[in-house]
Amino acid sequence: MFDHIERFYRPTTLREALLLLRKVGKRGRIVAGATDIVTQADRSTRFLIDITRLGLNFVRGGNRECVIGATTTMAELEHSPVIRALAGGILAKAAATCGSIQNRNMATVGGNLANASPAADTASVLLALDVQVVLASSRRERKIALAEFYSGPHQNTLNGDMLTEIVIPALPSGGRLGWSFQKLGRTETDISLVNVAAGLQADARGRIKWARLALGAVGPTPLRARNAKELLLGNALNEDLLTRVSEAVMKEISPISDSRASAEYRREMSAVLARRALRECAAQAGYKL
Ligand SMILES: Cc1cc2nc3c(=O)[nH]c(=O)nc-3n(C[C@H](O)[C@H](O)[C@H](O)COP(=O)(O)OP(=O)(O)OC[C@H]3O[C@@H](n4cnc5c(N)ncnc54)[C@H](O)[C@@H]3O)c2cc1C
Repeated sequence: MFDHIERFYRPTTLREALLLLRKVGKRGRIVAGATDIVTQADRSTRFLIDITRLGLNFVRGGNRECVIGATTTMAELEHSPVIRALAGGILAKAAATCGSIQNRNMATVGGNLANASPAADTASVLLALDVQVVLASSRRERKIALAEFYSGPHQNTLNGDMLTEIVIPALPSGGRLGWSFQKLGRTETDISLVNVAAGLQADARGRIKWARLALGAVGPTPLRARNAKELLLGNALNEDLLTRVSEAVMKEISPISDSRASAEYRREMSAVLARRALRECAAQAGYKL
């Protein structure tokens, strides 16, 4: 793909980058860490716009609201004290699984979302955290829920805009709260065959009052298991409920067979990982299963 590049731009301000994007139009493409783009062939691309010098690698705020800049790398997320302290550290954990250390030093969280792979590891966590993404062009800025950002495998609603920030809303606080990120890959540094992000909070009587369950690599986009979540709400977590929830998860997903795994294996493993994730949440929330 790089054989056909006429010009590689390295803007130093967001405004400059957005004006360049407008100027080059459909023949231009954003490049951040380049760990996905190098594997893709697209002869129509003539201009690359490097966005790693725009000052978009930051983590601001904390539990009440946290904003992450799009070019923050996986390694930065993995080591950020704020991200490690947020939501039981599940975003830091997911970032820490994104390939080798060399990959994580380059790969950005914005690139992980913009590439729109169904298997992107930070995507399921960010879905579980109900984040919004900020999308900008030289003419407008919009903020949409990550759940609305995906439109299919490797398809999103960017429409030529740049993803500039990820906004994590205030998360539940107080007691009886648990979080988990689970990933199954062929090796430690491989892309997910299945991944699961979960969070739950129980009330004083042990009934679940808040829950999130999101999965990756088992559908055309990263997805939220809404039926499974509904089963959890209002109930006390026990083995019977875990069984019903993992069965609901298997029905909600639509995995495909590919060179990495069969659809059947992915479906079975989704139930296993969802159960494992909820058990980890349950232990943190004080359940004795
Ligand atoms: C060896 C290897 C192992 C990997 N392992 C994993 C893994 O385990 N888990 C995982 O999730 N991923 C994995 N990946 C994929 C990749 O590293 C991640 O998806 C990474 O986060 C992509 O970010 P990037 O900055 O490198 O994106 P780039 O390659 O720079 O860009 C990817 C795409 O997103 C667009 N883009 C980038 N940033 C923006 C933005 N801010 N706004 C709009 N568009 C943008 C680009 O135009 C391009 O289309 C792996 C990749 C490799 C090569």
